[in-house]
Amino acid sequence: MKLVLASGNAGKLAEIREVLADLSIELVAQGELGVEDAEETGASFVENAILKARHASRLSGLPALGDDSGLCVDALQGAPGLLSARYAGEHGNSAANIAKLLEALKDVAEAERDAHFFCVIVLMRHADDPAPLIAEGRWPGRILDAPRGHGGFGYDPIFFDPRHNASAAELEPAVKNRISHRGQALVHLRRVLASGI
Ligand code: IMP
Repeated sequence: MKLVLASGNAGKLAEIREVLADLSIELVAQGELGVEDAEETGASFVENAILKARHASRLSGLPALGDDSGLCVDALQGAPGLLSARYAGEHGNSAANIAKLLEALKDVAEAERDAHFFCVIVLMRHADDPAPLIAEGRWPGRILDAPRGHGGFGYDPIFFDPRHNASAAELEPAVKNRISHRGQALVHLRRVLASGI
């Protein structure tokens, strides 16, 4: 089966390909088919994932995977949430995003700094699929008051996982990929795909 991935992110493509490797699924990036990014106008992660997958499926004529993810902080009513990549304004400026989040939480005590990473991956069998498959993952932790560690990306240096007693940036990549929101969503997706769509 051939699936199109509604993302231009090479890292995501590689990670998803690896998880689905033994399922005889051929995953192609939408860019390879000349499909450009959809506008993310949804009000929730799942809406955005569906918008992306529907767009890729409509333009390619193939079943499509779309994903969305971000960091939700309880004390900020779920912010940065959908705006995680551009919380401080400029898309993908992790240092500025971290600085803005630490400033927003500067008067918040450790016990009130709970947060989670969230990831949703949807499969649209075709562009008008009324019942997309939805795989979710949630990684609970709390926001540190200063960065720790040098691995990962995005908010990893200020996201602390109490079960592993480490920031996400201090974890080995293989460990992070196994326990993370994205890792969990991929396990669900794999299970659903393995049982047939
Ligand atoms: P997207 O799902 O690729 O659009 O990611 C949204 C944004 O959420 C990223 O740009 C990061 O700021 C943040 N994010 C998502 N997953 C992670 C993660 O595993 N670590 C750190 N930041 C993340």
